[in-house]
Amino acid sequence: MEIKKPQHHPSPYYQKKGDDLLVAGLPVRMIAGIAGQTPFYVYDRSIINTKITEFREHIPERIHLHYAIKANPHPAVVNHLANRVNGLDIASQKELIVALNSGMSPSEISFAGPGKSEVDIHAAINAGITLNVESETELSRATEYAKTQGVKARVAIRVNPDFELKSSGMKMSGGPKQFGIDAEKVAEIIRQMDLSAIEYMGLHIFSGSQNLNCNAIIDAHNKTFELARRLVKDSEVPLLKLNIGGGFGIPYFPGEMPLDLAPIGDNLRQLLRDYQDVFSDTEIVIELGRFLVGESGLYVSKINDIKESRGQSFWMTDGGLHHHLANSGNFGQVIRKNYPVCVATKASTAPSVVTNIVGPLCTPLDILADKYLLPEAQIGDLVAIFQSGAYGPTASPLGFLSQPGVVELLL
Ligand SMILES: *Cc1c(COP(=O)(O)O)cnc(C)c1O
Repeated sequence: MEIKKPQHHPSPYYQKKGDDLLVAGLPVRMIAGIAGQTPFYVYDRSIINTKITEFREHIPERIHLHYAIKANPHPAVVNHLANRVNGLDIASQKELIVALNSGMSPSEISFAGPGKSEVDIHAAINAGITLNVESETELSRATEYAKTQGVKARVAIRVNPDFELKSSGMKMSGGPKQFGIDAEKVAEIIRQMDLSAIEYMGLHIFSGSQNLNCNAIIDAHNKTFELARRLVKDSEVPLLKLNIGGGFGIPYFPGEMPLDLAPIGDNLRQLLRDYQDVFSDTEIVIELGRFLVGESGLYVSKINDIKESRGQSFWMTDGGLHHHLANSGNFGQVIRKNYPVCVATKASTAPSVVTNIVGPLCTPLDILADKYLLPEAQIGDLVAIFQSGAYGPTASPLGFLSQPGVVELLL
């Protein structure tokens, strides 16, 4: 049997004490007592702070940082971030309410996403946030509604760029796409905007997600600045804001290395110098989701049963893909790979068994870890999945097989 590399204590952000994995100084088994149940998600606010610090150490101060709340819309997480970033990016009317509840100023909230409903558009205009329109229909709906309300709709154009983010986990640009307005149409659309009803805010150019290759991100930044310059040259309205997207990834799988921010920061400093004349009065924004929160979270479940089947070991836990679809490999991965896993109650015990960790669902897709080298565990031990702070419960089929729900807490 092929043995996956030991990933016994894989994250640089977590400590252990004896056999206990710690989050915010507390043993995970005690956090289970606070949660009142397993499974649960626990997020560590100090790790979120560390990620913001890492970003700020390298990225020029002039560039604003936004949090894309779809990565983790838990209100405590959003509230924590709202005090530490410059703005929030949302993708639905319900996320708008979470964003407003956090106290973030509406002028620093922007709303992207294809196929916005009238409810979405009306909510954005009434709240005074920036609507990143992704089609001409959205723009005309915004124009009409702003007139009926006697206000101006703050509108930015989401551009479908004519390039793509290379080596990206999820490509969201280049070629025909449901996202944004094709770059070649944008100048004309800006020219025809009804400025009696629209306050033009600027451009949103997002090209992809989960990228660990700094050169690919640098390349996308270069092309994004160049595209924005072209679009500004062709239009008469000033560019107040330029959202250059995000895409900063985190390492999930064996062999992946953290993204190197230093060259990205150096390149941005150079771009800011090169384009000084064009963007001197433009606010430039990077929007990040998983980079800020992904590493702050653990998904913890309890071993309910252990058995052998034809030479392989299986640990059955009370957690599974109904809470954590991404970890099961069914959220956009082509080939399933293991997230880093540990036995949170055997954190210092030497690994000695190769096991499969599975959930309680009646489907072979419900895998938490596949042939993973771990210390020997007993029924009742707790299993923790690292890198679980983003795209967790809200990206999972919580109703599937009517299993109990999951608790989330931020420490
Ligand atoms: C999903 C999304 C993000 C966040 O992506 P991450 O990979 O979590 O950083 C940011 N911006 C837009 C427009 C998105 O759709």
